Amino acid sequence: MPETASWHLLLAYMRPHRRALLLGGVLSLVGSFAGLAMPLLAKVVIDAFDDHRSLVGPVLGLTAAVLVGAGVGAAGRYVLERMGEGVVFSARRRLVGRMLRLRVSEVDRLKPGDLLSRVTSDTTLLRAVFTEGVVEMVGALFMLVGAVVMMAIMDGVLLLITLAVLILVGSLVGLVMPRIRRASMQAQVAVGEMGAVLDRVLQAFRTVKASGAEEREIATVDEAAREARDRGVAVAWWTSIAGISAWMAAQLAFVAVLGVGGARVASGALEVSSLIAFLLYLFYLVAPIGQLIQGVTQMQNGLAAVRRIREIEELPAEEIGGGIREVGAAPAGVIFENVVFRYGDDRPVVHDGVSFEIPAGGMTALVGPSGAGKSTVFTLLERFYEQQAGTITIDGRDIRRWPLADLRAALGYVEQDAPVLDGTLRENLVFAAPGTGEDDIWRVLSLTRLEDLVARLPEGLETQVGHRGVMLSGGERQRVAIARALLRSPRLLLLDEATSQLDAVNEMRLREVVAEVAGETTVLVIAHRLSTVTNADRIVVMEGGRVRAVGTHGELLADDDLYRELAATQFLLPT
Ligand code: ATP
Repeated sequence: MPETASWHLLLAYMRPHRRALLLGGVLSLVGSFAGLAMPLLAKVVIDAFDDHRSLVGPVLGLTAAVLVGAGVGAAGRYVLERMGEGVVFSARRRLVGRMLRLRVSEVDRLKPGDLLSRVTSDTTLLRAVFTEGVVEMVGALFMLVGAVVMMAIMDGVLLLITLAVLILVGSLVGLVMPRIRRASMQAQVAVGEMGAVLDRVLQAFRTVKASGAEEREIATVDEAAREARDRGVAVAWWTSIAGISAWMAAQLAFVAVLGVGGARVASGALEVSSLIAFLLYLFYLVAPIGQLIQGVTQMQNGLAAVRRIREIEELPAEEIGGGIREVGAAPAGVIFENVVFRYGDDRPVVHDGVSFEIPAGGMTALVGPSGAGKSTVFTLLERFYEQQAGTITIDGRDIRRWPLADLRAALGYVEQDAPVLDGTLRENLVFAAPGTGEDDIWRVLSLTRLEDLVARLPEGLETQVGHRGVMLSGGERQRVAIARALLRSPRLLLLDEATSQLDAVNEMRLREVVAEVAGETTVLVIAHRLSTVTNADRIVVMEGGRVRAVGTHGELLADDDLYRELAATQFLLPT
């Protein structure tokens, strides 16, 4: 990504806060200005002392400058910190808003842990850009220019020496900054990587333990943490190189100014008080130079963070649109016409001209060997991915012409591994249809035979089900997922392997449920166990990315070899 794009984004984050930035900046500058006035006031005190005048006025002035400087400076800092939090907040909101709208195909390629670290840790770096970066730099520049002007007024020769030092420091810092930016970017990538590795472990915590892989996984996380540390150390190294060079240059300048200035005082070309004030200004330069370096370093961190945030913002997002929600209630028919699809240009073809037609209402089953492309049918219907060729219509309308929100509102989808989200059972049930009434919830609970479970749970519907529903059994999770899909009152219900984890009694009950639901809406079910779909109105047999036969159980047994084979292996036929 070009450097200017990072800057633009940084400025875009700043724009809504420009008033706060201005106020905080002005307050900080006033604070610095009070600081800048101090050597001058010190000179007044010394001159008053020399001339045997009263010291009360100058000392009071000095005290006031200190107090006002500190108070205003603190207020400025507060305003800026507040603004920094505001920037982090809006960056997080934008990023999260973007992330949830990303296409499934994009998220499938990313690592969740890394995404998490971009929202949590990279955005934090933006705060420092504004609080310690921009404003400190402006403040420091102001101090620097102010001090240089004052020095010019006092003595041109000494100023030249000082300017030579400033140029030296400037070139050194210029050399070091790209290294700081690179190391900072690498440090953030390493933190993201650590998040990704940790996430991997936590997602499969039991598998990690059961595989005795704790030590190996600890070592992997360790490696990522070590990388983050090394990159952080590299940033620290280059920052301190910049800092120490600035400090040493200032000391050099001090010695030179003291020597040359001393000689000029001896020759009568300069007053002692001017030399002292000049030296004080020189000391005053050290702090703003340090601040400047700090500011530029923070800026590099911020630019690296912006780059990582921008990477996500540049990914293609979905156009959700629609959202009328009034998508009707009548069962919807589905037509696949010569659909060709692959998950990526470098991936094998999954659908190689799939065609089938499902009339509205009733139950259709998709069967076929593993990897035949059955789940992919659902993926395409939900438009998580788009087919490369062919047409898919729902209700006679090309799904590409449906607003996404409306399309998905018409579908109920139960994924293969029936995910349950952390939260209460009720939250999970009404997840796809918030605002569902109590009566509907209980009707669906009874349909999906979940009433017993609710009665058994200590807090009924309000019981927490744990991260990914770990406190429920596999079968319960599936029924919760089905109940959730049913509560959406879908016009087309997509059940992926929905019955595979149910015991015989529950499976039979669920068959009754699905049959009942099929009376009200269109049900498309993917099943490995043919026993669950023998009563389907039609069965679509898929193999190798194509539809090889369509018919009822009886018809397929008579006509299709593959189906007969599947039935035979599942003891549905006498062999
Ligand atoms: P199963 O019965 O085992 O679930 P299936 O018939 O449902 O199989 P699909 O899940 O549709 O098969 O997968 C078809 C092919 O697409 C498989 O070879 C799989 O490796 C591939 N595939 C599935 N999902 C993705 C994805 N997100 N990215 C890349 N390839 C994928």
